[in-house]
Amino acid sequence: MAAGKSSIDTPLMRQYREVKARYPDCVVMFRVGDFYELFLEDAVTVARALDITLTTRDKGKEDPVPMAGVPHHALKTYLGRLVEQGFKVAICDQVEDPKLAKGIVRREVTRVVTPGVLVDEDQLDARRGCYLAAMIPNDDWARVGFAYLDVSTGEFCAAELEGAALEDELSRTAPRELLVPATLTDAQRTLVGGPASALRALTDLPLDASTPAEDRALLNEALADPLVPELDGAASSALALAAAAACLRYARRTQPTGELPVNRLVEYRASEHLILDEATQLHLEIFTSLSAATGGGQGKGARARGTLIALLDETRTAMGGRLLRRWLAAPLVDVAGIRRRHDAVEWLVERAVLRTTTRAALDGVYDLERLCGRATLGLATPRDLGALRRSIERLPALAKDLADAASHAIDVPLLIAPPPLDDTAALCGDVASRIAAALIDEPPLSFAEGGIIRRGFSADLDELVDIADGGKESLLAIELRERERTGIGSLKVRYTRAFGYYIELTKSHMSRAPADYVRKQTLTNCERYTTTELTEFESKILHAEERSVALEMDLFARLRVEVGAAGERLQRLAEWVARLDAIAGLAEVAQANSYVRPDVDEGGRLEIEGGRHPVVERLAAPGGFVPNDVTLDPDDAQLLVVTGPNMAGKSTVMRQVGLIVLMAQAGSFVPARRARIGIVDRLFTRVGASDNLARGESTFMVEMRETAHILRYATRRSLLLLDEIGRGTSTYDGVSIAWAVAEQLHDRVGAKAMFATHYHELTALARTRPRARNVQVAVREQEGGVVFLHQLVEGGASRSYGIQVARLAGLPRGVIDRARAVLAALERGDDVFGRARTPTAAIDTRQIELFGPRMPVPSAAEEVASELRALDPDELTPRAALELIARLREKLIT
Ligand code: ATP
Repeated sequence: MAAGKSSIDTPLMRQYREVKARYPDCVVMFRVGDFYELFLEDAVTVARALDITLTTRDKGKEDPVPMAGVPHHALKTYLGRLVEQGFKVAICDQVEDPKLAKGIVRREVTRVVTPGVLVDEDQLDARRGCYLAAMIPNDDWARVGFAYLDVSTGEFCAAELEGAALEDELSRTAPRELLVPATLTDAQRTLVGGPASALRALTDLPLDASTPAEDRALLNEALADPLVPELDGAASSALALAAAAACLRYARRTQPTGELPVNRLVEYRASEHLILDEATQLHLEIFTSLSAATGGGQGKGARARGTLIALLDETRTAMGGRLLRRWLAAPLVDVAGIRRRHDAVEWLVERAVLRTTTRAALDGVYDLERLCGRATLGLATPRDLGALRRSIERLPALAKDLADAASHAIDVPLLIAPPPLDDTAALCGDVASRIAAALIDEPPLSFAEGGIIRRGFSADLDELVDIADGGKESLLAIELRERERTGIGSLKVRYTRAFGYYIELTKSHMSRAPADYVRKQTLTNCERYTTTELTEFESKILHAEERSVALEMDLFARLRVEVGAAGERLQRLAEWVARLDAIAGLAEVAQANSYVRPDVDEGGRLEIEGGRHPVVERLAAPGGFVPNDVTLDPDDAQLLVVTGPNMAGKSTVMRQVGLIVLMAQAGSFVPARRARIGIVDRLFTRVGASDNLARGESTFMVEMRETAHILRYATRRSLLLLDEIGRGTSTYDGVSIAWAVAEQLHDRVGAKAMFATHYHELTALARTRPRARNVQVAVREQEGGVVFLHQLVEGGASRSYGIQVARLAGLPRGVIDRARAVLAALERGDDVFGRARTPTAAIDTRQIELFGPRMPVPSAAEEVASELRALDPDELTPRAALELIARLREKLIT
């Protein structure tokens, strides 16, 4: 009957099913011997996902269990691939020595790896946080609780947002996994799931929500700094805390055997930052270059060429790199905070030698945040702790350098001021000494074989090691003695794992083996023996070795817990290092590229003299980039209509204004001769066409949606950079939309805006709108071609030179000639065949009047005249006549 018994009902499979029942949403990797096995439907799914062989367990039985497996030493690789594909993986390990197990080996899930909860170094990008986020909206989505947590470092933040701000926060933090209410509709899931370029895993939260009191209790128990008491005026938002608690609960479940390195929850408001929506981040190429976003690809950890971050990131440590990234994703709006960063950058710009030594010292500092996170999680290896120790040991010298410099001059700026040199606790010297006392200087990666604890650290351990080592000496002594006793010079005493200790004689000497030699094994040319002495000796040594390895593991585990317990201090220290590194890097970039300190204030005015595009300037030949002046002011030059031929540099000058503002508010110096920046609250860009096919929208639809978003959310303090609004549709529709949008910006929104367009009709706005100005990027005409001067000058352009640019681009000569002929005909008002247009041409003539190339917008006087012509005086009451006169007069004088 045994052969027919279902193989699903074995003790092992019962154990497996119990585990699986506890982790139904995960793929369970179940350690059996040297393999991690997958069973049943997991085996089928994973075999397909990883392209590994699908077999069955216990072939020949009734319903054979599908099975697939990966060797234990290759777990990381397969795990990485699974998580990248969005799987959650529960790792179930053997938690007792199979040799000692009675019955089936005990197994437990030791950790769960999900897209948002990664802790392995090789799955993490050293220079960016890896976030798990949660969003909890209220009933009508007017408010949303949002929180994000980086389990590898313990960074933990929460906010209550307006519903409409969620998308911006998601694009800023780019979480890899988002916890959402299970009740979300498909459309809402698409919305929060992110664009195709950054698809994130969505994980449903349990339906039975926790109460605010439970959330508080959970957070207070986990955090070193407790939350503000509920009764306090500045109490936290319940929605924000619900999201934070959801993150924490979920993350805890993934680490059943380790603590999370979570000490502080930073509660923030979205309005504390310059808001950059997703489109703006992309258009300004802050983190990804447009070519990479549209399929060029970008490897993990690569600092994409051509991006702002690639240019500005001169940090030496991973922590500094991550901090700079956060600064760029969320520049400040608070003048004092910005000035603090500028003060620090300036201080290090002025001290070149100190900057160089500081950066050199930072070079050898490893990722304190993640190393300490790994210690808390119980995952740090001996080598990790060794790296932590060496990093901490470098810091006092670094702190001293700064303090020395300060003693000769002004105080070190607050932001980078080191902890006092005599404060060992703050500098974590005790942690380093503890590690140094316990671990050897160059610990190996793994400690399976021991040998990592320094001699003198534990008397018990030293004794065991002595026995084992002494044993080795005795072994040599035995060998010598036996050689003498038998007279066989080639006699050897050896050890192998499988056979233990033995005496080996070659075949030719076999006959001379003494009578007390017990034969153990016969090989082709030799014979192996043991003796009573050797057997006793073996058991003593092996025992000592085994015990010493176990003791080392135990000592190491305790050391790791001790280090983990200093987590909060280490995190604070790491924050200082990260700030110093980010600032020193910015100072280095500022110095190398001749950036200046911008003057930031609360006013609305933006004045850039000799501004440059930081990235384009670097790609241009030395001195080849033409600097430009731009002034924007909500009370004066509020709306700049930027015209100029194709390729003249309109997009470049607009992007450079956006980048300069962003850099300034992030704390960096800026590429200009002088810059005064009135704080901007939101930066919007609409640059070029970008399809969003993943959301099933056409180019024009996306453009209009983005424009609608801008008109709705822009304030007087916002900066808008709009490039060719209305281009994605027919000319007349396009120009009409562009005109109306520009009017709305001027008349109602009042935000500072640059509006680049090829519709030269828009230059007429400056005649009727007091705060609209025309600027153009100059070119020089030359022998039927154009020379780009890239210089922004006053006035509006009247031609696009599109055909000249097309010729430069290599369009066939025949096509160019024909285009010229068609253009000439159209400019004469004829049709493309050169025939004069009839008055009945199917085009709205009013639009031609309004926007036609030769017919500018009707002047105020013409409008007044036509209104007067159209009215019948006999029908007017005296009061209506008076009102009319007042209105017409106003039209003439504004
Ligand atoms: P289009 O209307 O065709 O979109 P555009 O006017 O927006 O063109 P840009 O894309 O900004 O033009 O610039 C075209 C090229 O000119 C860029 O590739 C850039 O290298 C160069 N360029 C732009 N501005 C400058 C400048 N100030 N100095 C030097 N080169 C510049």
